[in-house]
Order: sequence, then C-alpha cells, then structure tokens
Amino acid sequence: MTNTLERLPFTRPSIDEATIEAVATVLRSGWLASGPKVQEFEAALSAYLGSRPVRVMTSATAALEIALTICNIGQGDEVITTPMSWCSTSNVILRLGARPVFVDIDLDSRNLMLEQVEGKIGPRTRAILPVHFSGLPVDMDRLYAIATRHGLRVIEDAAHAIGSAWRGRRIGSFGDLVCFSFHPNKNMTTGEGGAIVADSPAEIRRIESHRFHGVVKRAPDQFDVLDPGIKANLSDIAACIGLGQLARLEEFNARRRELVAHYFARWSASCPLRLPAPGDTGHSWHMFAPLLPVDRIGMTRAQFIGKMDERGIGVGIHYPAIHLLSAYRKLGWREGQFPNAERVGRETITLPLFPAMRIADVDRVVDAVNDILKAAST
Ligand SMILES: *Cc1c(COP(=O)(O)O)cnc(C)c1O
Repeated sequence: MTNTLERLPFTRPSIDEATIEAVATVLRSGWLASGPKVQEFEAALSAYLGSRPVRVMTSATAALEIALTICNIGQGDEVITTPMSWCSTSNVILRLGARPVFVDIDLDSRNLMLEQVEGKIGPRTRAILPVHFSGLPVDMDRLYAIATRHGLRVIEDAAHAIGSAWRGRRIGSFGDLVCFSFHPNKNMTTGEGGAIVADSPAEIRRIESHRFHGVVKRAPDQFDVLDPGIKANLSDIAACIGLGQLARLEEFNARRRELVAHYFARWSASCPLRLPAPGDTGHSWHMFAPLLPVDRIGMTRAQFIGKMDERGIGVGIHYPAIHLLSAYRKLGWREGQFPNAERVGRETITLPLFPAMRIADVDRVVDAVNDILKAAST
C-alpha cells in the first residue's frame, strides 16, 4: 500500500529553474570565487535585514567561530549557551580555548531559560550565545537587557531563524552579532553557506579578514596578515543560489507556517505527541519537532523511526543534548545536569516540513504517527 507513495523526506530544498540558469551563467562567466555575486548577495541580505552590514561565508559554523574571534574570546573565557543545538554552537567555543557554560532549555520552546542566565554569569563570562530554536526567537528584550546589564556581547546563533521576527522586527535586523546558516536543510540555502550581521565598520573589516586567511590589503600590490584567519569566503556560485533563494524566502516561510498550522489543526483534539510551542507569526518554522513519549508507547524511538521509514516517511533527530556527546563528557559533563535538554535529546522527532510539501503530505504524516502509536499501544 505504501509502495505507491513517493518517499517523503523530513526536509528538501526548493531550487527553481531560474536559479539553476543563473548558476550556469556564473559557471560560464569565468569568475567562480568570491566576486560580484557575493557582493550582490551581501547587499540583498543587508536590504532584507534593515540595512545592517552583512558578510557571507561558507557556513554558520565559520560565522560563529569568526564572531567569537572578533570578540577576542579565547583561553579562560566563558560563553553562556544552550545544550540543545547542533554541536557546532558550542564546538566553536571549545575550539577557541574558551568554555561553554550551559543553561537548560524550556521543554516546549527549546530556547534557553533566560531566567537562569544571570545565575551563571561570573567574572570570566564574556558573551551569551543563544539559539532561536526552530526559528522561534528567544525573548530579545530580556536577552539584551541581561547582556547590557552585565556588559556582555551577544552572538546569536540564528541558523534556524532567517525570516523570523521578534515583535515585528526581523531577527538580524537588530542586536549584536547575528549568525545565519544557508545549509541545504535551512529555510534558505546556498548549498553550504552562512553569514554574520554586525554594525561596527571595524568589526566588519575583521570579519572580512578572518574569513580570508587574516589577509589585509596594504596597497594594490601589497598585503599583510595580522592574525592567521580561516578560509571561509563564499563562492559566486553559492552566492548566486542564495540570491534566488532570498527572493523566495518570504513565500517559503509563509508556506512553512501554513503546513505547521495544519499539523496543529489535525492534532488539536487529541495528539499522541507533545507538540512544540506554537509561537506567533514571527516563527519561521525551520522544523517541526514534537516529542515522542518514549516511556509510554511500547517501542523505542529507533523502532518508531523504522516504522515511519517503512511508510516512506523520513524522520530527523534535532538534536542529541550536546553536553552528553563524548567530547563533552570527556571534559566532565554528565547526565542529570540539564534535564530538559536531555529529555528533548531522547524524545525529539523531526517530522517532514518543507515548502514543496502539500497539505495531503501533512495528513499522511499525521495518519502514520497516529496509526503507529495506536497499534503499539494495543
Ligand atoms: C545548522 C546549524 C549550525 C551550523 O550551520 P552550518 O552552516 O552547517 O555550519 C549551527 N547552529 C545551528 C542551531 C544549526 O542548526
């Protein structure tokens, strides 16, 4: 019965023919590395983000590392962050010799419990690095009030949040350093890519230098390196994909909200899952990740994923709690420290959500989940 249905992945990018044609034009142009398309993409992103300066690079991971670097965060410094994210959010802190100080998350929003942040601020704290989980903004008023009160930098991991808004203002259009991802799973893609938004011209120059080996131009025939940088400049090929995607971002995100509204509507009367916080119209729904009550369903999460797979439906896991990954356990983190993040790590399931999905696909997912869990409980 299921063989006739097309496989439904948990996510898939939508790349239109015009973008494919535009990429072909770049390929024929003779200029593939960072050039006019990167400049055009940066200008378009900046226009989208309230005219703040934006610099693009090869990933959000590189963006986060560069953001921490230009804040001079390193050996002996502490950065307050979340244990519920993709591992790179805190890997970059460790890579620079600093220490992540984790604060647990709210079970439904998956965002940092900001009320616990001030208790973790000490003499070595330099920055707060929150994630707008699945595109639901953290409380920006409260976040920036804490940062201002304690003189801390804020580096927003906005990898999920391009197109999200807090009280009508786009994430990235205000705030301190804001990092985006254009990985193919994200709400818009460049194949792989990322960006930093920053205000200060001096910091923008440092970002430009750090994404390209640390090079600074002295004269048309002379360059120097002040600090060794990384190699993370974006190609014109990737930037060209980004231009095509950015033009459709609002449409993509509107579609994501429609599809999620249907998930919520289908599960409004009764739902065998714990649904995520609904947010408001500023939620860009990077993903739809309810919790599976693994203790009460008579099967493991892996078995559930297997059953969904038999029906041709992909399920993702976003994410295991970071502090329980081996690299972190080795440094002393343990079970029991961040109970909500650990529970989300055990129970989260990312159900299909992407702009090309149809309402009927949502129905198919809801029916599959309901059937599988009903069969398991009888
Ligand atoms: C995807 C992601 C990153 C890393 O993005 P890349 O562009 O793949 O480096 C960082 N943080 C979060 C929350 C992410 O989802």
